[in-house]
Amino acid sequence: MPATCCVECKEDIGRRSALICADCGGLFHYPDSRIDEVGRACGVHVIGFRSLLGRDAVPLCLRCDMAFRLRFGVPS
Ligand SMILES: [Zn+2]
Ligand SMILES: [Zn+2]
Repeated sequence: MPATCCVECKEDIGRRSALICADCGGLFHYPDSRIDEVGRACGVHVIGFRSLLGRDAVPLCLRCDMAFRLRFGVPS
């Protein structure tokens, strides 16, 4: 699979914004609200757990997010 495809919907990222999952490294569509980009996020969101990760905001796909929460016992 080319690296420019969204892992979730399998469509080209093209000129749209995307996030890279910090865990599995997959690419996911993620509309950039700062530039009023329309569209939907493809199975990815940004979480912030400074105490656990040492970073303010980390993009994780829903699969990795689930695994992460299980591993650290974080309620969703
Ligand atoms: Zn997508
Ligand atoms: Zn992931």
